[in-house]
Amino acid sequence: TERTFSILKPDATRRNITGAVNALIEGAGLRIVGQRRIQMTKAQAEKFYEVHKERPFYGELVEFMTSGPVVVQVLQGENAVAKYREVMGATNPAQAAEGTIRKQFAESVGENTVHGSDSQENAKLEIAQFFQDSDLT
Ligand code: ATP
Ligand code: MG
Repeated sequence: TERTFSILKPDATRRNITGAVNALIEGAGLRIVGQRRIQMTKAQAEKFYEVHKERPFYGELVEFMTSGPVVVQVLQGENAVAKYREVMGATNPAQAAEGTIRKQFAESVGENTVHGSDSQENAKLEIAQFFQDSDLT
């Protein structure tokens, strides 16, 4: 079994659809073993997205991720990293497959409802930024 890190982004909390997103996550066989609703600080968002800091959308991304509450989660299941990427769908909702979270809910490439780790290594690093092992059950 494997764990991945997920964020339900501010567009999800704003529209009150976090339960609907969680239903798709659980429907795919992923278990939510840690979950907390937080307001990210600018410093937290900057650190979290540090790999993108040279990209033109970095400032906009940090601004968006701090524009309202988010739900940080740890998801567990078989091949959790790859499975969640599949459930999320493509970054750009216009290219997301039918049945995916982003196809159903995302508004744009920037406001795309969810984040999911892109590798097991990053999953570990991202989980550690927001959760202690003893919080995960
Ligand atoms: P995430 O990392 O959030 O799970 P991802 O791996 O599908 O999404 P990345 O390429 O890692 O996409 O980009 C990180 C985030 O940056 C995207 O989810 C999106 O919110 C934002 N982003 C990516 N490309 C653009 C863009 N061209 N314009 C605005 N925002 C963008
Ligand atoms: Mg990414």
